[in-house]
Amino acid sequence: MTLHQNLIAGEWVGTDGVENINPSNTNEVVGVYARASADDAKNAIAAAKAAFPAWSRSGILERHAILKKTADEILARKEELGKLLAREEGKTLPEAIGETIRAAQIFDFFAGEVLRLAGEVLPSVRPNIGVEITREPIGVVGIITPWNFPIAIPAWKIAPALAYGNTVVFKPAELVPGCSWAIADILHRAGLPKGVLNLVMGKGSVVGQAMLDSPDLAAITFTGSTGTGKRVAASSIEHNRKFQLEMGGKNPMVVLDDADLTVAVEAAANSGFFSTGQRCTASSRLIVTEGIHDKFVAALTEKLKGFVVDDALKAGTHIGPVVDAGQLKQDTDYIAIGQSEGARLAFGGETISRDNPGFYLQPTLFTEATNQMRISREEIFGPVASVIRVKDYEEALSVANDTPFGLSAGIATTSLKYATHFKRNSEAGMVMVNLPTAGVDFHVPFGGRKASSFGPREQGKYASEFFTVVKTAYTLA
Ligand code: ADP
Repeated sequence: MTLHQNLIAGEWVGTDGVENINPSNTNEVVGVYARASADDAKNAIAAAKAAFPAWSRSGILERHAILKKTADEILARKEELGKLLAREEGKTLPEAIGETIRAAQIFDFFAGEVLRLAGEVLPSVRPNIGVEITREPIGVVGIITPWNFPIAIPAWKIAPALAYGNTVVFKPAELVPGCSWAIADILHRAGLPKGVLNLVMGKGSVVGQAMLDSPDLAAITFTGSTGTGKRVAASSIEHNRKFQLEMGGKNPMVVLDDADLTVAVEAAANSGFFSTGQRCTASSRLIVTEGIHDKFVAALTEKLKGFVVDDALKAGTHIGPVVDAGQLKQDTDYIAIGQSEGARLAFGGETISRDNPGFYLQPTLFTEATNQMRISREEIFGPVASVIRVKDYEEALSVANDTPFGLSAGIATTSLKYATHFKRNSEAGMVMVNLPTAGVDFHVPFGGRKASSFGPREQGKYASEFFTVVKTAYTLA
């Protein structure tokens, strides 16, 4: 098989390859991808540093054209790239194609943002002095991404980084190098100058750590686990570097007595189980008031019974496999923990076999859970959700907010009063009314509160807060 190499200073380099395995069929190798060393990471950082002065002063039309070309190619190849994504990550083909389209839309959006860069001009409080406020690129940005959105998350970090004139060292997650390699290849062929984007695929403990240890990264944007996020934060403080973290979630979905049952079940089934529950915005706590509880559990269980768990590429599959053996063990460990804590296993809980060997797990629903159980407090990151029974809206809101996390929160209700109150009082960065907690637009801010996120929001025009630095200039007229 061809070795997909790392991109450093505009050259494809690397000889040491690792197989990328398909979680729907572990006998299938998706491709072979180079593994970077700590020295490769250092070379990539040096190349990005050398490329920064020219790129930061490049014309906006050049940046616009490269990002637009990239968007167009990703969109034109959505079926092929979607298939690659589904094979390396395990989400279903329609989900994977949808994510690929979203990556194209993100590049397209930031191609537009390049042309809309603007500052402010205002008078000084002192006579005859003018003030200009502008945004400038920060420098070399380190980008570290997780495996659950192999093309969208790299896109929503790389596109704004480049649009605002920064250079990049990009380390994708070990499990999904394929889509990241494709993005680097497309940007490279779209005419990105040497060293502006460097791709270093490899281990977090080696390549990622070398990035954290470098004094030459002006900023790091990270999405992944809370543990690694803390390391990014600590190293960034030490190096006086800007950082942005997107970490876990334990997102609540409140279902009130007055909810439209079909809407509530659709929202819970989607946000709890689609993409195999492997979305940081997935809702794993279903907080349901007494009057609708039994009907909701019965209808959701019926829905889960109808879900087909199978190969990500098979037509008709609703839920693909879990991403790898480690994640599957984490999921089944939590299922055992839930049972030992006294929650009732209402559906699923078993690993299953399909035609090919893969990491298949039934969608799993617990009932009679409490918000104090570990399955309600810790992120499982699998197709596992728990129903917590509550008395009324007030208790539902209090349970929803009683979590260390604060990424996304949802409510199913037909009451304007409760919907409005929930939007105002939910301690989450994103609030959904009669919608799944997962599934967000690409042109508006994304991010959370509490242990879920740190730093400015990602996506949309708000992305400029992280990827630029503000300058205030005074001129005597
Ligand atoms: P997940 O549970 O999603 O795999 P991780 O935080 O382990 O979360 O991984 C997210 C990203 O962080 C991956 O690209 C991974 O390689 C990287 N990473 C892991 N450990 C480190 C580290 N010590 N330094 C920098 N990056 C790391």
